[in-house]
Amino acid sequence: MLSAPMTSNDALEILQTIYGYDAFRGQQQAIVDTVIQGDDALVLMPTGGGKSLCYQIPSLVRPGTGIVISPLIALMQDQVDALKALNLQAAFINSSMDARAINATEQALLQGDIDMLYVAPERLLMPGMLDLLDRAQIALFAIDEAHCVSQWGHDFRKEYLGLSLLSERYPKVPRVALTATADERTREEIANNLALTKAARFVSSFDRPNIRYTIGEPANPRDAMLNFLDTHHQGDAGIVYCLSRKKVEQTAEWLNKQGRVAVPYHAGLSSIEREQNQKRFLREEGLIVVATIAFGMGIDKPDVRFVVHLNLPKSVEAYYQETGRAGRDGRASNAWMAYGLQDVINLRSMMAQSDADEKHKRLENHKLETMLGLAELTGCRRQALLSYFGDTLASECGNCDNCLNPPVTWDATDAARKALSCVYRTGQRFGVTYLVDVLLGKTTERIERFGHDQQSTFGIGTELTANEWRNLYRQLIAKGVLAVDVDGHGSVQLTEQARPVLRGEQALHLRQLPKSETRAKRTGGRKKASVSISEQDMPLWEALRSLRKQLSDLAGVPAYVVFNDSTLADMIALKPRDSTEMANVTGVGAHKLEQYGDDFLDVIKAHD
Ligand code: ADP
Ligand code: ZN
Repeated sequence: MLSAPMTSNDALEILQTIYGYDAFRGQQQAIVDTVIQGDDALVLMPTGGGKSLCYQIPSLVRPGTGIVISPLIALMQDQVDALKALNLQAAFINSSMDARAINATEQALLQGDIDMLYVAPERLLMPGMLDLLDRAQIALFAIDEAHCVSQWGHDFRKEYLGLSLLSERYPKVPRVALTATADERTREEIANNLALTKAARFVSSFDRPNIRYTIGEPANPRDAMLNFLDTHHQGDAGIVYCLSRKKVEQTAEWLNKQGRVAVPYHAGLSSIEREQNQKRFLREEGLIVVATIAFGMGIDKPDVRFVVHLNLPKSVEAYYQETGRAGRDGRASNAWMAYGLQDVINLRSMMAQSDADEKHKRLENHKLETMLGLAELTGCRRQALLSYFGDTLASECGNCDNCLNPPVTWDATDAARKALSCVYRTGQRFGVTYLVDVLLGKTTERIERFGHDQQSTFGIGTELTANEWRNLYRQLIAKGVLAVDVDGHGSVQLTEQARPVLRGEQALHLRQLPKSETRAKRTGGRKKASVSISEQDMPLWEALRSLRKQLSDLAGVPAYVVFNDSTLADMIALKPRDSTEMANVTGVGAHKLEQYGDDFLDVIKAHD
C-alpha cells in the first residue's frame, strides 16, 4: 500500500501504472473517490462493469489492508492470483488452509504486509478472526456479491446477515457493498440488512450491449444448439444451463460425442468433481460447462463467449444474472435460449406443487409469467429486459433476435378456436400431445378408447403440422388462455380468457415458427475461436494465445490472469514494436510489461 496522501490522483496513477488502463469507466472514479475519503458506498453495476477496481484501488490508496468478503472459497485462489500477477500483495484465509498457513497470513496482516485479504463471511464472523481484525489496520471492507444478504434474491446466504455487525464494530472503516443484481427490492434489502441505508448509492445502467439475446422454440433444441455453436462459437468457452441434473449429464455427454469438450456441473457431483470441473473451465480454453444454476456465481472468467439455456429460467432476474456471465471482457457474446411447451408445463406444475405459502407462490408465479412474457415477446428483448429493471432504452437495440429478424406474426384466430374447442370437446382432461393427435385425426388406441375419433374436432386441423400445433398451444398457455393442470399430467383447461377467442370476438396474432436455420458445415478437429480478428491477423492471434497458454501453464494460473482477450486483441490492433509502445496496450501494467512484454513483442515481431 502507498503511504503518500490519499488523493484521486493516486487512484488514477495506480489505474494506469499497475493495471495498465487509460481511464476509469462509468462511475468507477466517483465510487473510488467516495471510498478513499472514508465513506460507505452501495454499488450496483452489471457483470463486467468493473466492480473489482472499485474496492481494489481504494484498498491500495488507503493505509491498511482491504478486507474483501467473498462467498466462494473455491474462487479465492484465482482472485488472489490475478492480483499477484499485478505484483500486489494479496492473500486469503479459508478452511482449505492448514493452521500454519493461516498463522503466517495472520502475521503478515498484522505487520501490514497485505494489500487485500479475501475471506468468506462465515470465517470473518468467527471470534478469532474479529479479534485479529481488531489488531490490524483495515483500509476498508468490501462486501462482494452483496445480494447474498437478500432473502428475496436467489443466492441468499444466512451468514451474510451477520455482516451488519461491521458497522458497529468498525464505525470508522468504510464499507463498500457490490452486486450485479438489479431489482429495487433486493437493493433495499441490501441497504437495510448491511446497515448501508445512508451509504452513497451508485447505480449504473444495466445494459450489456455486447451480449446478443436470442430466444427461440426450435423443434429439436439440442440440434439447434449445436448448429448455433458450430456457426458462431467453434472453439469458444461457454456455459449451457439445464434445469435437471439428468439433463446436465446427458447434454454434456452428447456434446462430447459431437466433438466438443464439455463437463457437467451440478449439486449431485462430489465437491471434488465440482471443483475440478470449475477449475478446468477457468484454466482451459474452449471448454463448455453444462450446469444447473448451481454454477456460475462469482466466476470471474472474462472470456465466456456464450451462455445457452436449454430450459426456461424461473425468473427474469435469474435469466439476466446467468446470461450476464457472458462477455465480461466487453467483447461480442451470445445469450441463446431454446424453450418449449414442456418447459412451461414443468415450471407451472413445479410451482403448483411447491410447499411455499400462498403469498410466495403467487410471487413465484408472477415471476414466471414475466419470464414467459419475455420469451414470447415480439419486440426488442433488451428494451423489455431493461425496463423490467427500471432502466430505459430509448430505441430498439439492434442486437437481439427480434431486432435483427423481426418475427413474422400470423392471424391465428381460426387455428386458436380449433385448438380451444378441441380442449373443450375432449373434456379438458388431456395434455397437448393427445390434443394434437385429435386435431390431426390420428387413430391411436387411446383416442379410440375415449371415442374421440367420433368427435367433431377430430381431424379438423390438418392444415398445420404437429409442431405448429404444439407451438400454438404453447403460446396459448403462455398467454394464459389455457391453464395447465397442477396434477403433473399436463392436462390443459380453458380459462376465462378463452371465452372471447372461442366466440370469435377476439383476434389473435401470434409468432410464426421461424424456418429452421440451415445447418452450418461441420469441420472436424479442434476449431478456431470466433473472435472478431481479421483473417489476415489470425496467425498472430493464434500465436499470442499459444504463448499466453505456455506462460499461464508455467505459472499455474488461468490464461486470462496473464492477459485477457481484449489485451491480446489490442496488441494486434496496435502492433507495438518496443516496450514503450507495449505499455500503451490496454491491460499491460508495469509488472506485466516487465514479466511478459518481451515474449509478446518477439511474437509480434515474428509475424510482421
Ligand atoms: P465485475 O466484477 O463488475 O463483473 P470486473 O471487475 O471483473 O467486473 O471487470 C470486468 C473486466 O473489465 C475486467 O477484465 C477488468 O480488468 C476490466 N476493466 C475494469 N475496469 C476497467 C477500466 N477502467 N478500463 C479497462 N478495463 C477495465
Ligand atoms: Zn433489440
